Amino acid sequence: MSLLLFVPFAWFAAACGLLWLSHSRVLARLWHEPALAVPVVIVESDDWGPGPAADGEMLERLARLLAGIRDADGAAAVMTLGVVLGKPDGAAILADDCGSYRRSTLDEPRYTGIVQAMRNGCAAGVFALQRHGLEHCWPASLLACARQNAALRAWLADPDARSEALPSALQSRWVDAAERPSSRLPEGEIRAAVTEEAALFCCLFADVPTVAVPNTFVWDDAVERAWAESGVRWVVTCGRRYEGRTAEGGLQPAARRIVNDETGAGGVRYVVRDAYFEPMRGHRAEQVWQAVAERTALARPTLLETHRENFIASPDIARASLAELGRALEGVCRRHPAVRFLDTAQLGEAFRTPGSPLLMTDTRQRAGVFLRRLLAEPDLSRTLKLSGLRFVLPLVVRMLGRM
Ligand SMILES: [Zn+2]
Repeated sequence: MSLLLFVPFAWFAAACGLLWLSHSRVLARLWHEPALAVPVVIVESDDWGPGPAADGEMLERLARLLAGIRDADGAAAVMTLGVVLGKPDGAAILADDCGSYRRSTLDEPRYTGIVQAMRNGCAAGVFALQRHGLEHCWPASLLACARQNAALRAWLADPDARSEALPSALQSRWVDAAERPSSRLPEGEIRAAVTEEAALFCCLFADVPTVAVPNTFVWDDAVERAWAESGVRWVVTCGRRYEGRTAEGGLQPAARRIVNDETGAGGVRYVVRDAYFEPMRGHRAEQVWQAVAERTALARPTLLETHRENFIASPDIARASLAELGRALEGVCRRHPAVRFLDTAQLGEAFRTPGSPLLMTDTRQRAGVFLRRLLAEPDLSRTLKLSGLRFVLPLVVRMLGRM
């Protein structure tokens, strides 16, 4: 081999070796992450639960909108509902001077319209239910704080108060945030809470969702084990796991990074939801289109995080959110005619099914996706730049695309 060929070859081999030695775990995770053959878009909407009858009407409007937007196979757009089955019964708790906890749950007659709208949407294939807690807080933490905090007692006294108005740290269900930094919950209590939630799901919907969404993305292995024992197979994450709250109430630094289909405790598998669509915070359809394009280029699904508060705010905001959601999804269909709409459990199942038509199987295509993922990975950015691979790998991706 001439020197002219040997030097660049040796440099390339050394740079790849350096990358492997310094980031082997990241590389292995990115290689094993499933690669999708088609664009996949799922709208993930959290926090639906007890509320006024108007929430049920909004769910019906959402269902009608989704039913009118179809992928190439004729499947309707799907919105998963992260369901919170209950909320603190503020009047009863205050009547007992915060001595004991009481809750109000979706099986009460006043919530019939909301439950029926959820059932109808599931039957029509436009909604899929996910576990988001029996309430959006850990009851003992809420009680302990309410005994000392007048603002929390005022929240309890308001029959229309929503969980969204609780202090952020208290919205983390799977941690004791009564005192901060937060502490872990006893595993037995977690298991009992998960079992109680599953029983009420079964009672209301004759089924227990296999997907769980940790409130505020704070959870740990004990929660995963309890979920797994209770039938959960997939956990929705933002690509990171947080395990507690700081002294100031913020999220503690992430305990781990996560990619699609990685395994957690009890054998649960993760699905990553890292695109955001909160119209009331200014997110527009254009950002959704960009998010879908970026994730599709990396053969990843686009799970759009949204919350009920976009759709239950003032009528004007709710109407605008609904219209923007429709514009976003219709625009996705125009830009990606091959897009597939499905729910998160179906996506997780596809990840686990060799030969699924949703998965990319061609090794050359997978290699191109792997390299694009390397280039997009923030943890590798510095090494890629210093080694010079940042400038060479795009050429390799282009060559693979032409072969
Ligand atoms: Zn939530």
